[in-house]
Amino acid sequence: MPELPEIEAWRRALDGPVSAFPIEKAGPAHVATLKTFDPPLSSLEGRRLARAERRAKRLLFPTEDDELVLLVHLMTAGRLRILRAGEKGPKTPAFRLLFQGGSQLVLTEAGSKKRAGVWLLTPEEAELELGHLGPDALHIGADRLSEILTGESRRLHSLLRDQRAIAGIGRAWANEILHHAQLSPYALSRETAPEEVERLALAIDAELTRGLELRERGANDKRTYRVHDKLGEPCYVCGTPIARVDFEEHTIYYCPSCQTGGRVLKDRRLSRLLR
Ligand SMILES: [Zn+2]
Repeated sequence: MPELPEIEAWRRALDGPVSAFPIEKAGPAHVATLKTFDPPLSSLEGRRLARAERRAKRLLFPTEDDELVLLVHLMTAGRLRILRAGEKGPKTPAFRLLFQGGSQLVLTEAGSKKRAGVWLLTPEEAELELGHLGPDALHIGADRLSEILTGESRRLHSLLRDQRAIAGIGRAWANEILHHAQLSPYALSRETAPEEVERLALAIDAELTRGLELRERGANDKRTYRVHDKLGEPCYVCGTPIARVDFEEHTIYYCPSCQTGGRVLKDRRLSRLLR
């Protein structure tokens, strides 16, 4: 699933084009993609979008008159792109906005499962919809991070991915961040020393910024990730083969030398069964 760096790169690319012209026609939308019916999509027509915003892993497009917000969650396989006037697009996109002048914003979704969603909301409804999200991960800072870590005792990998605690990080960037911070994915949040919290805050910014810069240049997953999905490849710091462990329905990648003092992490699902 695209995470903060990927969504933020898309937001930057969409910001200018979506606000260049008023909307001529909103829709059609796939019945599984459009999650709201009131206000109707047609109420966007004639209005202009002010800009593209990002909240956690979602994109928001408020109208210039501040009356409506178009919210998009791409989930795993959704993609948003701008088609210039006359440019050929997909025959049946999951969602489409046609702008005056002929450019289009189209949402497509690979595969047959329709999981991406589009909501047309009032600004108040949008606030409620996003109210459960924690603070944005980028530039979170050590002080705020420390409060979050001491708030509950959780494994670091799990806590970093919890959008209610800290928003924007998923399993891929949690792997990159914890490796950069030289912290075990299984380390407990409340047992993290102040200098480790400091290191984690720096690693969050360093990795998310690195990812954003690469994604803005169009880098693919293989070039962007250094730890995630790199089982058996040499760690970029020490050369030890990257290891993998299953934890809470997720697969974690880590370096046993840099992060766990040489210890190989046990599969938590398996050990629970054996206990
Ligand atoms: Zn290493």
